[in-house]
Amino acid sequence: MYVFGLIGNPVGHSLSPPMHEAAYDALGLEARYVTFEPTRETFETALEGAKALGITGLNVTIPFKQDVLASPLVEADDLATRIGAVNTLDFSGETVTGHNTDASGALRALTDHEVALEGATAVVVGAGGAGRAIAFGLADAGASVSVANRTESAAHGLADAVPGASGHGLEELSSLLASADVLVNATSVGMESDETPVPADALHGDLAVMDAVYRPLETRLLREAAAAGAQTVDGAWMLLYQGVDALERWTGESAPVEAMNEALRSRL
Ligand code: NAP
Repeated sequence: MYVFGLIGNPVGHSLSPPMHEAAYDALGLEARYVTFEPTRETFETALEGAKALGITGLNVTIPFKQDVLASPLVEADDLATRIGAVNTLDFSGETVTGHNTDASGALRALTDHEVALEGATAVVVGAGGAGRAIAFGLADAGASVSVANRTESAAHGLADAVPGASGHGLEELSSLLASADVLVNATSVGMESDETPVPADALHGDLAVMDAVYRPLETRLLREAAAAGAQTVDGAWMLLYQGVDALERWTGESAPVEAMNEALRSRL
């Protein structure tokens, strides 16, 4: 019996348990996905306990994604170290390894929709946790990345760390998008409100637009992007593929993507 789980605080709202358990059913895998909610003070002890108890893998969410990097127990891989956040822990080897499947999941969401990234010009709106993961991921995939953020200094800070990237304020979005191939919203704007961080008249038919926001599935940004003739990818795809990548790392099996997608979307 495998035990996997999610460690964060709070975790009660998470869609990961049904998504992963649907995968175990489809694969015929004897496994459970459990949520754990330690405090910041007990987080390190919780990781030690997870290792001692033989837990195979944990996803990590707010507020611990950055804290993990300070854990003496965890060896983060190169991408997670550069991003400065870990969302997947693998306990199956000698050492506990840390990975960032928000980055790989965002890329897989785009490539699954046949969005070409190598040589593409990409604009990432947002420089928080999701923005960092997506900007590093896109640059590693060969895209030229511009980061635009409300707090412009954070965009510059992120761009300085991402190879070849540039940082901007939101007022530059229209000019950046005129020559862009890919746009990703990595801000929380649009979450449970009909708002968008991108002016509608900056959107055009040569863009592929992904929103990290998945509640609602069709954000105002995606609605306006579709109206402009752009290709759209909703935030549930990124959420799906971060889970798919974690599951494949933990089990070494190909994830049953359709079953996981159905379990996720039926709850959104
Ligand atoms: P975060 O670290 O708190 O960053 C929030 C970002 O949103 C910052 O860039 C912030 O800009 C910007 N922002 C917030 N309010 C804004 C406003 N009114 N106008 C313009 N910009 C605003 O959050 P996060 O973890 O990156 O998450 C961002 C979004 O991505 C959330 O909706 C989250 O649910 C989603 N997400 C989705 C997935 C997925 O798998 N689909 C994964 C991770 C995150 P400032 O720097 O100026 O504050």
